[in-house]
Amino acid sequence: MPELPEVESLRRLLIESARGRTIVCARISEARLRRSVSRDLPDTIAGRTILEIGRRAKYLLLGLSGKMTLLVHLGMSGSLTHRGRDFRDSDFHPAHDHLRFELDDGTALVYNDPRRFGLMKLVASAELAQTAELRELGPEPLENDFNADYLFENTRGRKAAIKNLLMDQKLVAGIGNIYACEILYAAKVRPGRAGARITRAEAERIAAFTKRILSRAIGSGGTTFRSYRDSRGQPGRFLSSLQVYGRDGEKCYACGSAIKLKVLGQRSSFYCPTCQR
Ligand SMILES: [Zn+2]
Repeated sequence: MPELPEVESLRRLLIESARGRTIVCARISEARLRRSVSRDLPDTIAGRTILEIGRRAKYLLLGLSGKMTLLVHLGMSGSLTHRGRDFRDSDFHPAHDHLRFELDDGTALVYNDPRRFGLMKLVASAELAQTAELRELGPEPLENDFNADYLFENTRGRKAAIKNLLMDQKLVAGIGNIYACEILYAAKVRPGRAGARITRAEAERIAAFTKRILSRAIGSGGTTFRSYRDSRGQPGRFLSSLQVYGRDGEKCYACGSAIKLKVLGQRSSFYCPTCQR
């Protein structure tokens, strides 16, 4: 499932390839995503130019001329690929190409999503911050307002597991299961520990490793565990850097103990029982 580093990697590629292009026409072949795509979208979006490409949490924000923004969420298995003549689409079954935006240079942006948990919604740019998807999001983890002080203060009195808190988009935006596991391993904190029991020193480590690991993952184009592909159809390269995620039963790279798997909040959590306390 794409998290912040995957969406940020996608954003950076699209800035290079799609910024400044005008959407000539849009076609919907399947409107039923997480919520149905508005039937008005093709008429409303045609003729608009992609002026800027932003991101908030796991949302990609295509800023269009005429002060409209296309909000895109990749859900569990979505991809937004920029397809030109040399694009190889063997990874993408045409039956799952749900939206297609034809651009003025003959290329196309194609939204493919086998499981259809994604979101595609056009909003007035002035109302973006107040839209239901974005208005309750916590700080961006790579910005300065997410730091040890913030994390320590906002975990006081919280009984929930620290891993679930890191994945709580109201506390901090953009972190999902893969990076929450990796951050807590690096910080030497067990995922099931109650937020309230995190010490000041641990909050320092968690905040610092959040920034370090997400930045490194962005530098590697994100992680492809199952389905993520970037705008060129390429997988992310961070998989080989993962220390615990998906490694249950294998040896910890630091101490040799077997990595354990524990289900927390219905999500698989991976940790080293020796390194993490
Ligand atoms: Zn270990």
